[in-house]
Amino acid sequence: MTYSPLQKALDSVGIRPSPAPTTLSGARDFIAATYRKAVDGEDIPLGEARGRILAQDMVAPADLPRFDASAVDGYAVTSADLEAGPARLRIADRAAAGHPSGHRLTSGEAMRIFTGALLPKGADRVVMQEDCVRDGDWVIARLPKRDGRHIRRKGEDVSAGSIVLRRGERLDPTHLALASALHFDILPVQRRLKVTLFSTGDELRAPHETIGPGQIADANRPLLKGLLEQLGCEVEDGGILRDDPEAQVAKLIDAAARRDLIVTSGGASVGEEEHLSRVIRSRGSLEVWWLKIKPGKPVCLGDIDDCPILALPGNPVAAALTFLMLGTPLVARLSGAAALGPQMLRLPTQAAIVKRAGRWEAIAAHLVDQPGEPTMVSAEKKTGSAMLGMLSHADGFIVLPEEVELVAAGDLVDFVSMPRR
Ligand code: AMP
Ligand code: MG
Repeated sequence: MTYSPLQKALDSVGIRPSPAPTTLSGARDFIAATYRKAVDGEDIPLGEARGRILAQDMVAPADLPRFDASAVDGYAVTSADLEAGPARLRIADRAAAGHPSGHRLTSGEAMRIFTGALLPKGADRVVMQEDCVRDGDWVIARLPKRDGRHIRRKGEDVSAGSIVLRRGERLDPTHLALASALHFDILPVQRRLKVTLFSTGDELRAPHETIGPGQIADANRPLLKGLLEQLGCEVEDGGILRDDPEAQVAKLIDAAARRDLIVTSGGASVGEEEHLSRVIRSRGSLEVWWLKIKPGKPVCLGDIDDCPILALPGNPVAAALTFLMLGTPLVARLSGAAALGPQMLRLPTQAAIVKRAGRWEAIAAHLVDQPGEPTMVSAEKKTGSAMLGMLSHADGFIVLPEEVELVAAGDLVDFVSMPRR
């Protein structure tokens, strides 16, 4: 157990490193405590910022709404004119969205007004057109019982000077809409994390290669590329590493010199462990975590020439799960995202689940939506850490902590979604 910038620092002042985590939560805590942002900021057009991570807090330069505006189509009036009952008011002018009127309402006047129009001076309420009768240049208006003023007040949503978006937030369409409404056109974001992805194994063949006896086509690169891209990474395909230390070392060193993170799958388990881990240890350091999780095998995290490297198990379901649970927070930390993820939901399970105590288990599952019922999760019938057919139909994983042995039907369980799209 040697790796981590934090523990290297502790070593240098003579503090012994803590033992390698054996639980999933221990591994996640380790990642959160050890890794820091590895990217700088850049300014980019708002239109290109979806999915990017905000590099600075954003302060509202204006109120939202920007001005008192009508919330309906109707007539702007002075309340005092209608307090005694319905009144006949002269229509003084017209205000539509983007076409304000400069007229100041006086007693006895109304103004035709449309949704989004600037409320004219002198008006303190809008009467919906359904509560009015038009009579040429006049309108007969009344105040319905329990009716609001139908005004969107300046600043009622966002007040100028307040922080509206926080550094570390991943920008989604609603964030961009808010930033745009506040008239930002350039946003400060973190540079994308540069990741190189390798698969390892002599049995693996790329899509364009023919498959011989005992060989299989590589499934993990498209899987992990997609998962990394959903986290905003810029992914380079490093290809397939053969089970040959010489070939591995050259490729890993080349990637480490140029990239922020290396992700591999396969080749990190018992038989082959010496390969990949010896290669990495020869240029850096590596932790092999025998996490008590199913499916899992060891997950390795280390560095090679100061570039972090995450080595995932080769079985596709195990690779997907360990990436979700450990790759997600690692990428979040390195790319400056505040939320470590992945997000967990608490949902009732449709059927009972029996499991072995003492290890964390993930079971591929799908969501069950029935009319009038809360959404439930249902474990897949087939399980197996290599079963991609099963995984492709699952919505995610039910995850059960170490101590649990039995979950009854209807009990709430943690569920982590498989990112789609
Ligand atoms: P390993 O972790 O290298 O021992 O691999 C465990 C299992 O996963 C073996 O059956 C491998 O053939 C399989 N495997 C490893 N990498 C991949 C991959 N990229 N795509 C599909 N299966 C893989
Ligand atoms: Mg292998």
